[in-house]
Amino acid sequence: MKLVSIIIPAYNEEKNIRPVYEKLKEVIAPLNGKYVFEILFVNDGSRDDTQAEIEKLALEDREVGYVSFSRNFGKELATTAGINNCKGDACIMIDSDLQHPAELIPEFIRKWEDGNDVVVGVRRGSKSDSWIKKSGSKLFYKILNRIAEVEVVPNATDFRLINRAMINEFNQFTEVNRMTRALIDWLGFKRAYVYFDANERLNGTASYSFWKLVKLAMNSFVSLSLLPLKLAGYFGIFITLLSGILGAYILLEKYFLHLHTFASTFSDAENLAIFIVFLVGIILMSIGLIAMYVANIHREVIQRPIYVIRKKNK
Ligand code: UDP
Ligand code: MG
Repeated sequence: MKLVSIIIPAYNEEKNIRPVYEKLKEVIAPLNGKYVFEILFVNDGSRDDTQAEIEKLALEDREVGYVSFSRNFGKELATTAGINNCKGDACIMIDSDLQHPAELIPEFIRKWEDGNDVVVGVRRGSKSDSWIKKSGSKLFYKILNRIAEVEVVPNATDFRLINRAMINEFNQFTEVNRMTRALIDWLGFKRAYVYFDANERLNGTASYSFWKLVKLAMNSFVSLSLLPLKLAGYFGIFITLLSGILGAYILLEKYFLHLHTFASTFSDAENLAIFIVFLVGIILMSIGLIAMYVANIHREVIQRPIYVIRKKNK
């Protein structure tokens, strides 16, 4: 029988652990003859009783496993640890606040059995999201798709299934600054989609604050694209060309050709300003060049361990 791992990142979710567990059990019950399940909680350094709640479940039910971080490392690393530590032939990631409809899990599994390597949950929108979060995420995907090296599907969530081949590939990634779903998109493989409406959060408030999301967005720009690094260089090329042409024109006109009066309207101070802008352009181009070297280093370096586990039961 195939083993399916269900990965649940949890940060300060003491009130949601049991409800999400019960919901999952209810959903997978009809599949029990055909599959074996592993329910793997990743406690992302919660400060409340999340760990105690998880351990209670682990005592009651052998299907429940957990990985517990030594501190809060963020959801992206929590899902990463889940993928790294799961044993399934496929794994499904799902939020612990019941915003992702667990009822769709059989559909994810069906699409996987149909021969897809990755099944991605795409959100149709959530009533609880603020205007700023909605338009922010729209803008984010627009920019990301313009500059990233791979296509990232808008509103594709972390609620997704990946098969063992992808898990093994995913386990090779070493970067710390990561967005799990973007890395999965980067891998490619054969994809299918499941559409859903997000539910309201069950208990507590979303711990992804506005600034945390902005930081995540900046991180994914930087980790998926070298464009921000190269911008200075491009800008340098642009102003060097512009001021170079203008400066050369004035120099020629004023001192050699004397054809137009336009060039002679430039004062010495203005000529100097053009020259300085020209030099600034060269400096920016050099920064751009350095950026390319930094980019190479950035690609090559191997980082510290990306997370630290304090305790796990399997
Ligand atoms: N989460 C986590 N570490 C964090 C923040 C969030 O593991 O630092 C988990 C959280 O427990 C939940 C999921 O990530 O299961 C989604 O978080 P949340 O509901 O706060 O954000 P949303 O994406 O719904 O706005
Ligand atoms: Mg949520």
